[in-house]
Amino acid sequence: MTARVASIEPPRQTVYTEAMEVFQRASDLIGLDRRVRMELEEPDYEHIFYVTVKLHTRLTPLPASEQPRYKDLPDSELLPDGLEPLLDGSFVFKRRALINANVFMRDGVVRLKGKGLYKVVPGRPERFKAYRVQHNQARGPYKGGTRFHQDVSLDLFKVLAAEMTWKTAIADVPFGGGKGGIKVDPKTLSSEELEALTLRYMYRLKPLIGPNLDIPAPDVGTDGTIMGLLLRQFTDGERERHSLRGVVTGKDTRIGGSEGRVRATGQGLAYCIQEWYADRGSVPAGSRFVLQGFGNVGSNAAEILSGMGSKLLAVNDAGGTIFNPNGIDVPDLVSYVYDNPSNMRRTVAGYPKAQQISKNDLWEVDADILIPAALGGEITGPVAERLKVKLVAEGANGPTTPEGDRVLAKRGIELIPDIIGNAGGVTVSYYEWIQNKRMEHWSETEVNGRLEQAIKSNYRIIRDISRNTPRRTATHNSQRYCIGREVDMRTAAMVLALKRIEAHYQLEGFSQ
Ligand code: NAD
Repeated sequence: MTARVASIEPPRQTVYTEAMEVFQRASDLIGLDRRVRMELEEPDYEHIFYVTVKLHTRLTPLPASEQPRYKDLPDSELLPDGLEPLLDGSFVFKRRALINANVFMRDGVVRLKGKGLYKVVPGRPERFKAYRVQHNQARGPYKGGTRFHQDVSLDLFKVLAAEMTWKTAIADVPFGGGKGGIKVDPKTLSSEELEALTLRYMYRLKPLIGPNLDIPAPDVGTDGTIMGLLLRQFTDGERERHSLRGVVTGKDTRIGGSEGRVRATGQGLAYCIQEWYADRGSVPAGSRFVLQGFGNVGSNAAEILSGMGSKLLAVNDAGGTIFNPNGIDVPDLVSYVYDNPSNMRRTVAGYPKAQQISKNDLWEVDADILIPAALGGEITGPVAERLKVKLVAEGANGPTTPEGDRVLAKRGIELIPDIIGNAGGVTVSYYEWIQNKRMEHWSETEVNGRLEQAIKSNYRIIRDISRNTPRRTATHNSQRYCIGREVDMRTAAMVLALKRIEAHYQLEGFSQ
């Protein structure tokens, strides 16, 4: 008989434990109070729930192997208005398609004039997995985006919610951290289905959130329209609906959104880059940058930087990669991606005034700045080895892996970490929330003036922590935060976050 030996297994490595490495490192460095550390190591609440929606009838392309059987099927004529095209090549069928229609159907197959053969797939209910992680509220209500994407998981939302706790502390806005969303590819749904899914999500979420409790915002796959739906569903039937307007941020400016919110994350990143150059006695004008992601953050950062005289050389997004050594005209690319109805994927791929290159080649473009503004985990160790830039300015959340970080440091490539680089969004979200509370509407000049001052002063504090140069100037005071030794910028940002959060526990104490 063999004796069983209890093995002490090392903790399971997950995206969450990996993302928390910098938290652990900074906690060790500042000797973070043991109990505060435990409060922050795991989220306060992890909500997982399910949302059902009735999907409409679809016409999906008939596989080529089945097509010969329907050679003789005559054309059907349906009102084009009643067929909503989806990215997977199918159509969502709406009843109005039958107005004055001429339909020939055999075994549920129809031939659409000029389009080919389609199989009718009857509408059915579908179940989607939904999340809201509430990480910490020591400094104020939970705050964080809503992501609709097919690759989300509880672990990912834990990472993103914790990032929000650090980011709100670094931005010095009175919020904690949260994040949530739905496991769904929104591009596979019709506009009506997406609306129904969004409303149902809020129906389930309503008991868990509120303007003084947890405040969602847009993230990947959601926008101001979705925020408007979330607002309506939350306030529907309430006696004092107008006082609840701050339950979501990122709304359209006509329904309580803030001027400058749409561009805020890109704007904040541009302010950080400007400050990076100012510190070297220079300006971004004349620099060259490479971009990953041409969505909200990427396209706005590109527009603002090119307005400052910086040249965009290459862009990669989910659809492809483009490169022009002479520079890409950003407003022209924006209109190619966003104003062109046939560009349904809103991709830079196929842009005629640049070469199409592979994603692999993007990393080797010789430039001054790389801006990752797509998804997380893109700048791995091997990618970091190949970069030919001086500065990585993170627009996306978590774009650099811990190994990527080590390689960047080894190669002397500087970093503007995500928690300050993309903090512009949450800073202006705070301005939106406060405008909603006060029933005010600020001008874009006022918003950007406040944003510039906030981002740059917090950036300077992080830089001082990193270089261990405690200072008190007219715009910032880093004396309380420096730790007596130099640290990298990502650790410095985390030190700032933890010291600001710890102060709440130290000065307010713990409720039992
Ligand atoms: P978005 O949906 O508007 O755009 C995402 C972009 O990334 C698109 O251009 C898409 O084509 C590209 N992309 C997606 N998958 C890709 C892949 N595998 N390879 C290359 N490109 C890919 O999203 P967004 O709002 O611009 O957000 C981008 C990032 O910034 C996310 O990490 C998000 O969490 C972060 N962020 C956004 C905000 C905000 O205010 N929007 C604030 C803070 C952080």
